[in-house]
Amino acid sequence: MLKHGSTQSKVLENLWIAKNLLDYPPNVELDRDTDLAKGDVEAIQRARDWAENVVAPMAEVWEVERRFAAEAFQSAGQNNLTGLLVPSEDGGEQISVIGLARVLEEIAAVDFSVAFSLVCHNNLAGAVGRRAEGSLREKVLPGLVNGTSLGAFLLTEPNVGSDAAAITVTATQDGEQWVLNGEKAWATNGTDADVLSVYAQTDSSLGHRGIATFLVDANAPGILKTPGYQMLGGHGLGANSILFENCHVPAESLFVPTGEGFRAAMEGIDLARVLVGAMCCGMLRTALTTASNYVRQRLAFGGRLADLQGVRFKLADVSTDLEASRLLTYRAARTFQEGRDAAVEAAHAKKFSTRVTESGIASCMQVMGANGARRDHPLPRHLAASRLTHYVDGATEIQDVVISRSLLD
Ligand SMILES: Cc1cc2nc3c(=O)[nH]c(=O)nc-3n(C[C@H](O)[C@H](O)[C@H](O)COP(=O)(O)OP(=O)(O)OC[C@H]3O[C@@H](n4cnc5c(N)ncnc54)[C@H](O)[C@@H]3O)c2cc1C
Repeated sequence: MLKHGSTQSKVLENLWIAKNLLDYPPNVELDRDTDLAKGDVEAIQRARDWAENVVAPMAEVWEVERRFAAEAFQSAGQNNLTGLLVPSEDGGEQISVIGLARVLEEIAAVDFSVAFSLVCHNNLAGAVGRRAEGSLREKVLPGLVNGTSLGAFLLTEPNVGSDAAAITVTATQDGEQWVLNGEKAWATNGTDADVLSVYAQTDSSLGHRGIATFLVDANAPGILKTPGYQMLGGHGLGANSILFENCHVPAESLFVPTGEGFRAAMEGIDLARVLVGAMCCGMLRTALTTASNYVRQRLAFGGRLADLQGVRFKLADVSTDLEASRLLTYRAARTFQEGRDAAVEAAHAKKFSTRVTESGIASCMQVMGANGARRDHPLPRHLAASRLTHYVDGATEIQDVVISRSLLD
């Protein structure tokens, strides 16, 4: 029951095309063509229903209140969306790469922030499932998988982004303990995280070979979480800075040993890029459907906007871009799933889909006239998020580094 006058009720009062925007066509051809397993199809449908019922009514509220989408994460665990990269013997519900991309497409079609928050969490849960051993595994894995603890991945720093090998947060040994010092930036889920995966330099003379990874209780003494960043959008993903001041952690917190930390950080990067492509497909799909529904109903100069060739061709262009984006993204997902090197395909998919999603959402808003700019439908929220997709998991220019290297070196 909504409280009268609450932010949520005010936002819902204004949802003048709420039904239409949830009416988008699913990517059913893809589900048919790719021979997805039964478990994948069930997860996709579950994610779609969950996003419609749990995320859609709150997505604008998280943005207006500029806070982490805590309600979404709490409910994600109950809907088995927090262990999608963890095998069933560890309590997860591991699905295929294409299935995972489709799940995230469905969630991002409603809200990118929640989808990206879940990507970061699931990636960490998957890495812990693959690598952690002994008491560390017992302590951390169950909570990540069942969604009672939220994970964050801390690589980026205030002065280090693309050049990740240059991180400066230090980890020094003090008897049986490690001591962390320094500052991490852009931690998705950071405002509300329970478990931090911290990349730290153990010996700067070794360069990137000195990097190790620690799994740390986010509420341990010596850790300070800043409030979430004020951004152009995407507040639901709870990005912030996290400071370590003589933070003592037990020896068992060492997750990935010195020498392997940098490689571990890069391990999931191709998959992450494919998933950004899929999330872009979701946002662009919603934009196209919302604009199509609008121009069919809006009248001007004695007919429908949908009958004006200029409007039709603009949406036709967006549709072509969406189809191309899907092809690149799901080709890369298939390559990844088959265990082949997907680095270049993932770079193409991420670069192309982020580019056409930002321009395509703007085109969709343009055919809706001034109503395109109102926040009572998701396009402004998706437009802001589409800008953020250019930075996450390697900026666009870094995709060009990968692509040009494959062409020229
Ligand atoms: C919403 C959001 C969530 C994020 N979540 C996380 C997270 O959970 N964990 C985490 O660790 N990080 C996270 N990040 C950080 C993200 O990974 C970095 O933004 C990204 O690595 C780029 O680093 P930077 O922003 O510092 O840009 P910089 O590295 O400072 O680059 C600035 C510009 O220079 C360009 N550039 C850099 N190097 C080259 C080159 N060799 N050739 C050509 N151009 C180049 C870049 O492309 C960019 O345009 C997040 C970022 C955002 C926006």
